[in-house]
Amino acid sequence: MTTNENGKYTGKVAFVTGAANGIGRATALAFAREGANVVVADISEQGNQETARTIEELGGRVLAVKCDVTRTEDVKAALSKTIETFGRLDFAFNNAGVEQKNVATAEIKEEEWDRIVDIDLRGVFLCMKYEIPLLLKQGGGAIVNTSSGAGVIGIKGGAAYTAAKHAVIGLTKSAALDYASQNIRVNAVAPGYIDTPMMVRFTGGTAEGKEKVIAEEPVGRMGQPEEIANAVLWLCSDAAAFVVGHTLVVDGGQTVQ
Ligand code: NAP
Repeated sequence: MTTNENGKYTGKVAFVTGAANGIGRATALAFAREGANVVVADISEQGNQETARTIEELGGRVLAVKCDVTRTEDVKAALSKTIETFGRLDFAFNNAGVEQKNVATAEIKEEEWDRIVDIDLRGVFLCMKYEIPLLLKQGGGAIVNTSSGAGVIGIKGGAAYTAAKHAVIGLTKSAALDYASQNIRVNAVAPGYIDTPMMVRFTGGTAEGKEKVIAEEPVGRMGQPEEIANAVLWLCSDAAAFVVGHTLVVDGGQTVQ
C-alpha cells in the first residue's frame, strides 16, 4: 500500500482521534492512502507515533499530536496545530473511546461512570465544539463520531458504555441539524465486534472469549478495523452528500433484530 497523490482526498485534511490503535489507526491509514494529510491524535504517544511513522513510510503527510479528548486544552491545541501545519480541516473522525468492565448497573462505581462518559461522550462533544468553528470558517466539512452496536441495543453488564454510545447518536443527530444548512455533515458509525486491542481486552485475549463474541456475529467472524475505516471514508465522501445525522451500523448483522 502506498499513498495516492491523485487520491479522492488529495489536498484535504483529516483529524482522527484514537489513532494510535485499532479503528482510529486503520482510518488514519485509509485517509492517507486516499491522499489526505492526516492528523493523528491520541493519549497514547507511542502508538500514535507508530501510526504516524507508517503513514510517512507510505509517502503520506502526517502530524502526530498527543491529545486527551477529555481535556479542553489538549483538544484546542491539537486543532490549532492542525491549522498551523496544514492550513485547514476537512474531516474529523471523533473516535477515541474506552470500554467498561462487565458489571451490573448498581455495581458501577461512580468514578467509573464518570470516566466512561467523560471519554466516550464528552470527548466527542469537546472535539466537535472546537472542530465546528474551523469547518464553518472554511465553508464546510464532514464529521463522523464513533458510536457502537451498544449505541443501538442494550448490553448486559455495560450500562455506562451503552448509555454513552446511545448518547453519541443523539449528539450526532442534534449537531447534524444545527449545521446541515452550513455545509457541515455530521454522522456516526456504529461498529460491531471489531478485532482491535480493545476487543482483545474485552475477550480476555482467550480463544474462548473470542469464540463467545463471534457466536454473536451472524457473519461468523469479527470485523476488521479497515471495514469501519471504509464506512468512515464513505461518510466523508461526496457520495454521501445527502447523508446527514445518520448512524451507519457496520456490525456483520450483530444488532439486526
Ligand atoms: P482501541 O484499540 O482501544 O483504540 C482506542 C484508542 O483510543 C487507544 O489508542 C486509546 O489509548 C485511545 N484513547 C483512550 N482514551 C483516550 C482519550 N481520553 N483521549 C485520546 N485517546 C484516547 O479501541 P478500538 O477498538 O479501536 O475502538 C475505537 C472506538 O470504536 C472506540 O470509541 C470504541 O468504543 C468504538 N468501538 C469499538 C468496537 C470494537 O469492537 N473494537 C466496537 C464498537 C465500538 P490507550 O490504549 O492508551 O487507552
